[in-house]
Amino acid sequence: MKDVAYVALGSNLGQREVFLAQARRAIAAIRGTRVLGETVVEETAPIGPVPQGPFLNQMIAIETELSPGELLTELHRIEADAGRVRRTRWGPRTLDLDIVMFEHQSVQEKGLSVPHPELSKRDFWLTELATLRSARVD
Ligand code: ADP
Ligand code: MG
Repeated sequence: MKDVAYVALGSNLGQREVFLAQARRAIAAIRGTRVLGETVVEETAPIGPVPQGPFLNQMIAIETELSPGELLTELHRIEADAGRVRRTRWGPRTLDLDIVMFEHQSVQEKGLSVPHPELSKRDFWLTELATLRSARVD
């Protein structure tokens, strides 16, 4: 089933701009997927208990034939390609790719919640989402 999904890109370790650019290219290359739009890159303060540097963030809208679970698998592969090592939860990362929501699908499983449970708490996600949705012509 073809659907529109929103993916949040974040990086706060190393060459942050480069990791985001690499992620955009890799997402555009996922099978059955095309990019519909992207927000500007913004810097945000880290969230949570671990002291760490600021994030660069961006959200992109995609049209995809992949299910939410299949998309998460692809995003984990792209994170791994960016050299991401999962050490501390909430800790610094070269690349974090989160599924913010799908327009017409929701999932509540172990390991995957769509819409993302943090969506209503992250003002910058809500703003980016509104920007992408209002810009979309399809
Ligand atoms: P963070 O919560 O900081 O993004 P991680 O990127 O390490 O932390 O994600 C931890 C786990 O969250 C992932 O392994 C994934 O299984 C799970 N997860 C649940 N819902 C989502 C979602 N909507 N998008 C991305 N990951 C999700
Ligand atoms: Mg994540």
